[in-house]
Amino acid sequence: MSDQTPTDPSTSATPSEDDGAYPQTLAVQPGLQIPPGFDSFSPPTWRGSTVVFRNLAELRAYGDAGTTYWRYGLHATPTSETLCQHLAKLEGARDTLLLPSGLAAISLVYFALLRSGDDVLVPDNVYGPNREHGEWLARDFGVTVRYYDPMIGAGIAALIRPNTRLIWMESPGSVTMEVPDSEAIVAAARERGVLTAIDNTWSAGLYFRPFDKGIDISVQALTKYQSGGSDVLMGAVLSRDEALHARLKRTRMLMGWGVSADDCFLVLRALPSLPVRLAAHDRAAREVAEWLSQRPEVVKVLHPALQDCPGHAFWRRDFSGASGLFAIVLHDRYTRAQVDAFVEALERFAIGWSWGGAHSLALPYHVPSMRPAGSWPPEGWQHAGELVRLYIGLEDTRDLIADLRRALETKLGA
Ligand SMILES: *Cc1c(COP(=O)(O)O)cnc(C)c1O
Repeated sequence: MSDQTPTDPSTSATPSEDDGAYPQTLAVQPGLQIPPGFDSFSPPTWRGSTVVFRNLAELRAYGDAGTTYWRYGLHATPTSETLCQHLAKLEGARDTLLLPSGLAAISLVYFALLRSGDDVLVPDNVYGPNREHGEWLARDFGVTVRYYDPMIGAGIAALIRPNTRLIWMESPGSVTMEVPDSEAIVAAARERGVLTAIDNTWSAGLYFRPFDKGIDISVQALTKYQSGGSDVLMGAVLSRDEALHARLKRTRMLMGWGVSADDCFLVLRALPSLPVRLAAHDRAAREVAEWLSQRPEVVKVLHPALQDCPGHAFWRRDFSGASGLFAIVLHDRYTRAQVDAFVEALERFAIGWSWGGAHSLALPYHVPSMRPAGSWPPEGWQHAGELVRLYIGLEDTRDLIADLRRALETKLGA
């Protein structure tokens, strides 16, 4: 061990000859001159908490029309703004708000639009954590949350009450994949002045155009296709109406919800390939779904582009493509344990929740326990047993189909 006293750099060194500052000051304020003109396709990653104002007048003018745009790194950086504008262009929105996850985007919609005493209608096949969120609002915040049959269509009008403020939609719904008649639901909502929000994650905002349909808000889990790498968590709330955006934006600010510029960069990096990736998932998923529809172990293939899927006609009317996520319903002669064994026997399909990346996934679901409103199985379905959700990644479909065939034959053996 040394017995020397550590030297304090701020007092030991002499000022630099260039600008008369001590080394410790230069470490903070180096006064660099980076040559301008480096023009790249890749947007810069602007990290920053502090936003520097040129003077106090500029700082104090923040928020006045036509004045300072940037205020604080939590709310926006040029990198997040670039992503916002890019997403709005893709989905046909005016404004985008970024959130730390898809679930936070759902949460923002609830907290911005609902007050104690209000009522909200949610489809019975809604994304699971959205349902839990609604239940929390009902239990602790005095909001009534009611679940409707996703195939209700124009029948939603009869459920709207004077205090109904919001109708959620998801198209197709999570796990069971019903495609709602969103036109009929929007028409009923508009007639009564009720706002509509859709979780449009499945189409990544490309194959279903919510704003052209008169839907007020679109929610995206950017975690899925927009990131595409299974390595980023982020969500977005998109809208077209300026006043509505202002309400959403204010709630986001008060909640202190921001996103990392590095994560924005990762999503921005993946956006140019989004349409091409989605088309590849679409082609592959339809091929696998059609193969599965010929299998004796499978009683229904719930893929929006196939006849079996409830709401297939609405998918044809409203969508310009399908994505990589769908489900199969196995014959009720198989027990849950057998279906679990089938999923675990798959070698090309990983077991995991978050889809949208390059890797294929499989998960079994016991649907009746997820549907308190009782809208499952649909009337007239024979031998509807356990459900398996499949996500088709970017592998060669010949390998995926061979894997499914082997696992079906060894574990279910029709
Ligand atoms: C994954 C998902 C979400 C939530 O996204 P996270 O970023 O994982 O919170 C929301 N809605 C749907 C339909 C999803 O699939």
